[in-house]
Amino acid sequence: MSIKETVKAVGYGLLNATKKPVTVRYPEEKMPLAKRSRGMLSLDLDNCIGCELCWRICPADAIQMQKLDLHLKVNARDEAPAIDFNKCIFCGLCSEICPPIVLHHTHEYDISTADRETLMYTPFDLKEVYLKLVKGKEDEYDIHKREEPGPATKPPVTKQQ
Ligand code: SF4
Ligand code: SF4
Repeated sequence: MSIKETVKAVGYGLLNATKKPVTVRYPEEKMPLAKRSRGMLSLDLDNCIGCELCWRICPADAIQMQKLDLHLKVNARDEAPAIDFNKCIFCGLCSEICPPIVLHHTHEYDISTADRETLMYTPFDLKEVYLKLVKGKEDEYDIHKREEPGPATKPPVTKQQ
């Protein structure tokens, strides 16, 4: 290494010594995630209409519709999605297609466990996650913002011959 390169390297070293580290002491500390990150899902169960679209679109077969207690009358079909996070690939399709926007991704990503059973969430488990992390902060977690429909456009008029 030439003297010029050595001076340059020492200069970089000194410059970086004055900067804050870019790493954090995980898991005690966590880096803030981007607003649209797709972590574990939660469910606003009381507003689920039981349409089954999330179940139909899931490419990983991670969703099963689960019958609820008939007395709860959450929706006409009395069913809501249960999610197996062993299978979920966090693609976001279910939350994107959900008509009343009740499936929300959270920023929880560290859900690894040695017990696979604990990654199977009933609709009520998903509701717990919703109440704990999302309720009142839905805007922070909506990764698929829906745009207001623009003004209606008329089809082009074709001239009569
Ligand atoms: S995020 Fe994707 S893989 Fe996970 S439950 Fe929803 S549709 Fe299925
Ligand atoms: S979570 Fe959404 S898409 Fe799934 S059944 Fe309920 S309303 Fe339909």
